[in-house]
Amino acid sequence: MKSLTIGVLALQGDVREHAAVLDELGVGVVRVRRAEELGTIDGLIIPGGESSVMDKLSRSFGVREPLLAAIADGLPVYGTCAGMIMLSHEILDGINGQQSLDALDVDVRRNAFGSQVDSFETELDVPVLGDPPLHAVFIRAPVVERLGDGVTALATLDDGRIVAVEQGNVLATSFHPEMTGDHRFHEYFVERVRRAVAGGVA
Ligand code: GLN
Repeated sequence: MKSLTIGVLALQGDVREHAAVLDELGVGVVRVRRAEELGTIDGLIIPGGESSVMDKLSRSFGVREPLLAAIADGLPVYGTCAGMIMLSHEILDGINGQQSLDALDVDVRRNAFGSQVDSFETELDVPVLGDPPLHAVFIRAPVVERLGDGVTALATLDDGRIVAVEQGNVLATSFHPEMTGDHRFHEYFVERVRRAVAGGVA
């Protein structure tokens, strides 16, 4: 079986943690900062961090437009936390001038849990991953406030708020699976990348 290479967008954020998980899963890893690197990967993770900074850097590094083209061309992408914000259609409570990639038909609210409870951990039921529930770490996390027609919710909190979604070649979670020892979300993404490489849909 051909070995896979997955990029981690390395403009800002928890790049190293994602790279370490991919490495553990036996996948080749490329840190992506420039357009040329996009041509060398089978899939891409957009990490958590600060979405407004990542947005600005993606434009100043000239990687925003090539990234949009690659996603439109079917590159499988997985955004965690700030990465989910980057992929969304509309950002609620973004900073002035903050742009998203509009690759996922959802509107997300940034820092949706407010400053009182800005970080928490919970056991999350994720039907596509089966049992047991996933230990999920939320850090100044967004939630999905509008789900477009073609988008599937993969996980919701007990209060019904959506925190994991997929649409075509795009997968996104509000939380940080790279920070726990449970790698099922990364495995799920790697499997999608493997299927896309084999010629199926992501
Ligand atoms: N609140 C951050 C943002 O707006 C996201 C936090 C995170 O990625 N852990 O981008």
